[in-house]
Amino acid sequence: MEIKSVGVVGAGQMGNGIAHVMALSGYNVRLNDVRQEALDDALALITKNLDRQVSREKISQTDRDGALGRISTTMDMAAIGDSDLVIEAATEREEVKHKIFESLAPHLRPETILTSNTSSISITRLASRTDRPEKFMGFHFMNPVPVMQLVELIRGIATDVDTYDACLAVVNKLGKTAASAEDFPAFIVNRVLIPMINEAVYTLYEGVGNVKSIDMAMKLGANHPMGPLELADFIGLDTCLAIMNVLHDGLADTKYRPCPLLTKYVEAGWLGRKTQRGFYDYRGEEPVPTR
Ligand code: NAD
Repeated sequence: MEIKSVGVVGAGQMGNGIAHVMALSGYNVRLNDVRQEALDDALALITKNLDRQVSREKISQTDRDGALGRISTTMDMAAIGDSDLVIEAATEREEVKHKIFESLAPHLRPETILTSNTSSISITRLASRTDRPEKFMGFHFMNPVPVMQLVELIRGIATDVDTYDACLAVVNKLGKTAASAEDFPAFIVNRVLIPMINEAVYTLYEGVGNVKSIDMAMKLGANHPMGPLELADFIGLDTCLAIMNVLHDGLADTKYRPCPLLTKYVEAGWLGRKTQRGFYDYRGEEPVPTR
């Protein structure tokens, strides 16, 4: 089945990026959220990001106008049901996601493929609560979506080959690259990346280095474009902690225990860039290390 229309549920950081790249590649996109404000903000941000791509000569004015013309927003879940492919990109809470798939169910066509952009929740478990586990899979974009090349495609235990192939064709049409992952906690990228960040926090906790020296060491010593603590602030420390907990619970191995210092920062509400403070303090002109 060829995918022509895409419904995106959740218009936050990820949902607006997904709508942006889908529309730019020619798909008709319906973007849904429970908050009108989130839809308005998403459309404003997509417009701003497309304008930036025009000014950098990455896309033409016609591409920009075409993409914006292909995106519509709606708070009505029924309007999403008519899509060939649905990508759920709402808040990372399992109950929220189950409820979304439940309320979509009466409006879906039998052939519609359902996917989730979840960073960590079991695809098989999400699929098992829908009427179509064989047409359900993980479609995991990286942040920021318009910039990052990779999409992880995650098959649940029941996902059929046609569903996988249809999603792979979408990734190819976006000009992105797919990595195929099996449905185990945190899939591939976060399984490797988040424990590395957690280890960097242990290095800080044990006083092996301070924030600046740890980030500089990994940038210059391992050629990483960002230091691990700087990256943790970008991802969000609450998200990093949630993923460590998923790994710890799901794999039952003590090597995945979250660093107590990471927990402490989250308890303080120091969640990184989004709260202006994490391993760095972003309230001034320049980020200042907090340890
Ligand atoms: P976000 O908080 O920026 O946005 C979530 C949006 O979902 C909000 O606008 C919220 O109003 C909306 N929402 C909540 N309940 C809803 C419902 N019932 N129906 C419709 N919309 C609803 O979150 P985000 O960072 O965009 O993350 C979204 C998903 O993408 C999560 O599953 C997350 O794990 C995953 N993800 C995040 C990143 C990242 O770096 N932020 C990377 C890859 C995947």
